Amino acid sequence: MDWITWLIVGVLALVVVVTGTIVLVRRRALPPAQQRPELPAEPESGAETDVVPEHVDAPVAPATTLERPEAPATRMARLRRRLAGSNNPLARGLLSILSSDRLDAEVWDDFEATLITSDLGVGPTQELTEALRRELAVDGVSDPGHAKAVLRHELLNLVGPAMDRSLNLQGADGKPAVVLVVGVNGTGKTTTIGKLARVLVAEEKTVVLGAADTFRAAAAEQLQTWGDRVGVPTVRGPEGGDPAAVAYQAVQRGIDDGADVVIVDTAGRLHTKTGLMDELGKIKRVIEKLAPVTEVLLLLDATTGQNGLIQARVFAEVVQITGIVLSKLDGSAKGGIVVQVQRELGVPVKLIGLGEGVDDLVPFEAEAFVDALLTD
Ligand code: GDP
Repeated sequence: MDWITWLIVGVLALVVVVTGTIVLVRRRALPPAQQRPELPAEPESGAETDVVPEHVDAPVAPATTLERPEAPATRMARLRRRLAGSNNPLARGLLSILSSDRLDAEVWDDFEATLITSDLGVGPTQELTEALRRELAVDGVSDPGHAKAVLRHELLNLVGPAMDRSLNLQGADGKPAVVLVVGVNGTGKTTTIGKLARVLVAEEKTVVLGAADTFRAAAAEQLQTWGDRVGVPTVRGPEGGDPAAVAYQAVQRGIDDGADVVIVDTAGRLHTKTGLMDELGKIKRVIEKLAPVTEVLLLLDATTGQNGLIQARVFAEVVQITGIVLSKLDGSAKGGIVVQVQRELGVPVKLIGLGEGVDDLVPFEAEAFVDALLTD
């Protein structure tokens, strides 16, 4: 070959190498979800043809500097401080009995009235009062240590020390656990999911968030911000899109990534009961085409008292709740709602929110709660 032929062969070889490199680099740069074909949900019956996932935004890249969540032990110390006697009306009501000179009818009447106005509910208040009257009938409160122990014992019985409050985070057949979070807007769903993701990350679990509250762009934005801070991806959909499609995509992402837990945020519009039932029912059905929902957490704002209970009843009628999260137990919440809502729904309080701080979420423990209330 003469030198011109060599030159042509050389140039062609260079073009082939450069083109190949560009294709390779571009493929690698795509996030995993974009390499995957969109997986439509196979409808089981004609009634659910509308569950085919729409376009869902590419999951976000993890933040560069990740935060380290606070350890559970120091969170418990905060629980004690925030619920201590002088700060909380229920605690003040309970402790008042111990400082009474004589336990006459008037003292017991006042005690009952305070507990009822502290959201404990009429039934539990009467049970507690009757048990205390019986047990303190002979010695009264002359021995404050004994009286306090009696009060602690009876209160603990009301709160339910034997209830299983652990989150079911055991996915089936190697699939991720799926936690569905429901509740009226403003109760703290998004914030709680963010805090929970931090707790799970601290426990070395891998998490995917699903922003199925597609009615408020801000909700998805807020959720993604929480996720970014601890390196957890958030699957989002178009504003006003089908929430079930986003939930589906999030669980699919969790399965593809081999994640431990997928947490799905939902919109909490208490429009009509049928509307809510249709929406949450559909989300759950669509998710369960991929993996079982292992935990349905109902968010209740502890400061809303009776209103919160009314909301709880509606949600319990439309979806099977497996755990309650009481948010804002730090603020003007009276605390007694813990007992009342458990009675109403027959479901344990599993987590409590104690503030707006990133680590202000604590697993609920009956003993710690009662001890915090009875701290002078
Ligand atoms: P969502 O509409 O149910 O998703 O509610 P958000 O998560 O947006 O929370 C509504 C407001 O409640 C926000 O301002 C949160 O910071 C606040 N919030 C959430 N949990 C707590 C809590 O445990 N204590 C206090 N004090 N505020 C909280």
